[in-house]
Amino acid sequence: MKVLKFGGSSVANSNNIKKVVKIVHKAAETEKVAVIVSAFGKTTNKLIEAATLAASNDSSYMKRFSEVKEQHDNVVQNLITTDKKEQVQNRVTTLFKQLETLLEGCFLLREITPKAMATISGFGELLSSYIISEVVKISNKAVYKDSRELITTSNVFDKAQVNFKTTNNNCITYFAENNYKVTVLPGFIAQTESGVATTLGRGGSDYTAAIYAAALDADELQIWTDVSGMYTANPSIVRQAFPIAEISYQEAMELSHFGAKVIYPPTIQPVLEKNIPIVIKNTFEPYEEGTLISNTPNNTAPVKGISHIENITLLTIEGSGMVGVSGTSKRLFETLSNADINVVLITQASSEHSICVAIYEEDTDKAVSAINKTFEVEIERRKVKPVIVEKDLSIIALVGDNMRNHQGLSGQMFSALGKNNVNIRAIAQGASQKNISAVIDSMDAKKGLNTLHEQFFEEKIKQINLFVSGVGNVGKKFLAQINQQNDYLKEHLKMNIRVVGLSNSKKMIFNTEGIDLNNWGYALENGQKASIEDFFIR
Ligand code: ASP
Ligand code: MG
Repeated sequence: MKVLKFGGSSVANSNNIKKVVKIVHKAAETEKVAVIVSAFGKTTNKLIEAATLAASNDSSYMKRFSEVKEQHDNVVQNLITTDKKEQVQNRVTTLFKQLETLLEGCFLLREITPKAMATISGFGELLSSYIISEVVKISNKAVYKDSRELITTSNVFDKAQVNFKTTNNNCITYFAENNYKVTVLPGFIAQTESGVATTLGRGGSDYTAAIYAAALDADELQIWTDVSGMYTANPSIVRQAFPIAEISYQEAMELSHFGAKVIYPPTIQPVLEKNIPIVIKNTFEPYEEGTLISNTPNNTAPVKGISHIENITLLTIEGSGMVGVSGTSKRLFETLSNADINVVLITQASSEHSICVAIYEEDTDKAVSAINKTFEVEIERRKVKPVIVEKDLSIIALVGDNMRNHQGLSGQMFSALGKNNVNIRAIAQGASQKNISAVIDSMDAKKGLNTLHEQFFEEKIKQINLFVSGVGNVGKKFLAQINQQNDYLKEHLKMNIRVVGLSNSKKMIFNTEGIDLNNWGYALENGQKASIEDFFIR
């Protein structure tokens, strides 16, 4: 049996849902599948907004409500066959009536309790799973099951703790008796022992899928999303980044902690314990391989990915009063914990003269006043300085289980950064060496990530940027030669020649990515007016 989970963007509209149904259909040809779906893209946000608006007695909550309703009605109109349209639409309308009543309740009471919020925010998955199950039924033997009847949690309504004993029993019993090829279930939602609605927290549908996969001893958990796997770095910042074919659970967890939002980290726990592989796949490019996460990845590269966190502040406390005095770090961390502040990274020099912690920027003010309060007496006696605050920072990190078996990786990391003038403000490397992190200026983050990516993942090819002035007989031949020999030079001499500037007496053009040498004539004709000064300034 396989468990397939589809995220919000995979089910955002009728077209996407058609793709999902195709994927499900194919998977069900060979075995039984459980299909877990998120809410239609953006629905959960809109529901939470609607509830918040209603609770502040703002009648514009109805606008959000109507948007959500329209999105769902559209899918029903587009994808459900005529013979069943009325039946499906009736059920959807009933669910929306309940939702409207709940929102109206918040509006009249001017409040939203955690219980009500959990109930309201779960409507997205209730609706999406029901509608999708009806679409899947058109071409498959399929059944719908409400996850609330299977997943039992604690009484905390948001991010509730799963009671695995009851939940696993429920799942095993239900699926043993269920003979359908496809079962469609909502992600994210669950309920307490006594039947009150709860959620597993934002992004929790992955977790739902993992719970089912583990309970049912599935062969594989497939997470279908809108990217082709976990990437070596964030592809929107590092253009050369590529999907990692295989990676370990720990590495995946480390990378997702650092913002590779492909999977929700708690997801891994239940499947890791059972050693069930997770495959990340792209709903929109289903033939791409994706990323396989397992205990025994076939990938010996020491560095698997580079990740980063933005909006970081560094706080340093220092002073002679700290040297050799035990309990300073205890007091510091206790203070931060009491103020509910998440510590992202810690460093302390062995001189004990200072301790440095990285936190999220948004917590800065709270943290500074709490720490200064704790060390009030020492600060007054000048034994400790008031907290030193450095803002606008980012953390970049190398991630990989095998790093501990290799020498010189941190050397390579820091010298590559140094060569490219990226100033390092703090460094942390855990003894486990699964992660080497550096705190740098946010301004340098893009450069830093690209530098590290080049260092650890790209073939080292020398870039030569040429400015060519004059495209007469000689110039023309020269450009043709470069164009012709480029592949040869790359392969044999590890050299990439790019013509980035081109000029004749009338016109000039520039392109930092390299001018297309098959078409330069046309581009040049349409270029800017030639000017020797401007050409040289570049
Ligand atoms: N719909 C929920 C959310 O947006 C759960 C999920 O999509 O995983 O947080
Ligand atoms: Mg989601």
